[in-house]
Amino acid sequence: MGSVEISVCEDMLVCNYRKCRVKLSGYAWVMACSHIFCDQHGNGEFSRSPAVCPACNSALSGKLDIVRTELKPSEEHKAMMLAGFRPETVLDISSHALAFWTYQVNPPQVGMLYFLA
Ligand SMILES: [Zn+2]
Ligand SMILES: [Zn+2]
Repeated sequence: MGSVEISVCEDMLVCNYRKCRVKLSGYAWVMACSHIFCDQHGNGEFSRSPAVCPACNSALSGKLDIVRTELKPSEEHKAMMLAGFRPETVLDISSHALAFWTYQVNPPQVGMLYFLA
């Protein structure tokens, strides 16, 4: 792995819905295509099926393509959520989560995304 710059404190993810961009807190909807949406837009967009990502038009048909997630899990929840997994599984999960974060904070092809949207 190369070095990844991650700022932990101030950065917040924002809803990827084009006209929204609200700072995400509480619950958010995470897409398999590395997009994330606020609870309001998640509830609206992804309750219908087949769901399509409003940011990139990916079809999200798999059971785990859309996950509603708690952004700030409680200490109790954190203590338990990865308990029981093998170390490589924990690292695997972490690397996916970090890749997602990096993609959100520092999108690889911003111009392209706006072009597509
Ligand atoms: Zn939104
Ligand atoms: Zn998407």
